[in-house]
Amino acid sequence: MPSSLSQEPTVSSLHLHLHPSSPSSPLLLSFPFSSFPSFPSLLFKSPSKLQSFLNDFNRLARFHCYRFPLSFSSLSLSDSHSVLVDDPLPLPPSPFDSSKKVLILMSDTGGGHRASAEAIKAAFNQEFGDEYQVFVTDLWTDHTPWPFNQLPKSYNFLVKHGTLWKMTYYGSAPRLVHQPHFAATSTFIAREVEKGLMKYQPDIIISVHPLMQHVPLRILRAKGLLNKIVFTTVVTDLSTCHPTWFHKLVTRCYCPSTEVAKRALKAGLKPSQIKVYGLPVRPSFVKQVRPKDELRRELGMDEYLPAVLLMGGGEGMGPIEATARALGDALFNETLGEPIGQMLVICGRNKKLANKLQSIDWKIPVKVLGFVTKMEECMGACDCIITKAGPGTIAEAMIRGLPIILNGYIAGQEAGNVPYVVENGCGKFSKSPKEIAKIVADWFGPKADELNTMSQHALKLARPDAVFKIVHDLDELVRERSLLVPEYSCVT
Ligand code: UDP
Repeated sequence: MPSSLSQEPTVSSLHLHLHPSSPSSPLLLSFPFSSFPSFPSLLFKSPSKLQSFLNDFNRLARFHCYRFPLSFSSLSLSDSHSVLVDDPLPLPPSPFDSSKKVLILMSDTGGGHRASAEAIKAAFNQEFGDEYQVFVTDLWTDHTPWPFNQLPKSYNFLVKHGTLWKMTYYGSAPRLVHQPHFAATSTFIAREVEKGLMKYQPDIIISVHPLMQHVPLRILRAKGLLNKIVFTTVVTDLSTCHPTWFHKLVTRCYCPSTEVAKRALKAGLKPSQIKVYGLPVRPSFVKQVRPKDELRRELGMDEYLPAVLLMGGGEGMGPIEATARALGDALFNETLGEPIGQMLVICGRNKKLANKLQSIDWKIPVKVLGFVTKMEECMGACDCIITKAGPGTIAEAMIRGLPIILNGYIAGQEAGNVPYVVENGCGKFSKSPKEIAKIVADWFGPKADELNTMSQHALKLARPDAVFKIVHDLDELVRERSLLVPEYSCVT
């Protein structure tokens, strides 16, 4: 493969995205990754064909760029809120003028990125008060034009269709594929993203999302701001993770585990750029746990029966209903005619599921909740948890010392979380609702020792202080930076 290929800002799906055949199709509206799957095979089969194909596309891109240098908003293709030209600054006239500004880039693809962003924001607040002003923004939704602002919707569609997600995830993994895509994307969104970033006047930018390194860093480099703004990545996947998390230009890359740190090194980051502190979890998880009976009472649960928490990430994904029904049977002792355990089900944003579960006549005490904000209390009220392999939920459960039964995972980023939990002796993996119900019934009966041991292992692996270590390291970085570049003001 000619080396020039990897450097040229090639465009492979631009046409698709400018002229989607069906505007309502989430796949076509998705981030350019949607066309990745066919890319590698083409690439390896016939390099010369690919070269000419890409040249054609690049010509097309340049044609579009010459005609429409001001990006989509100037084309009036974008919807009204994406036209940022005359947007007022979001900052209130502030008593915080002397405070440093932190901008966290996240996106609501799953619940984990937002939870990590909120955790970092809360920790800054707790540790430094008014010294720092922290903003959280969804860069793609809030600061890019259509179709790029459809990213969260596209993600939610793709993960619900496993094969499509697998193709997208693995197809876009090679650098040779995603690098040119980001370059092409930048051509069209750079101006809006730059405005979006600069109106916050950040001293620190923190990305907690795999798709928020490349474009912002290209912009900072182009504007000569790389050694003025501290740009960092906080990886929110525990083990396996997409290569787009890693960019050599970051000041720091915070990795939640040594496994992720190894990947960062392999991606070319220097050891000095990498810190392994753990996954940032909301500071409320660090507070002392209140007694179980008190929490159960507040949540309307039985005070004395052992309890299992059943959930599926922020979206309430996975076989929750089937598992709840199996638990409903397994946790009821037919001989004695009484329950041996109870269940707390958190459905997240899945209202349909919550309504369905609430309408069932259960033999055991069951509490069904929608999206909860006090996850630490719900976990504190239970003895074990059944969940998909979401990193946020796993890290939180470990802090609470809950043994974990994983009942599924999102291909790609969550696949490695299964061995992470099982091999560290913190839990089990099964896709069978019946088998899962049997494990819980055993834990609440003859295998109580196993439950106990796993709880100890989980507590050992937990990193409740990760978020505090991250914000203190960031504070040090920004102080060092201001000594080196005293005259800096990002408004300029
Ligand atoms: N979560 C929450 N309330 C809910 C459901 C989930 O606060 O009702 C939080 C949960 O505590 C965790 C995050 O959402 O911090 C889910 O992240 P995870 O990485 O487990 O899964 P994702 O939703 O990102 O796939």
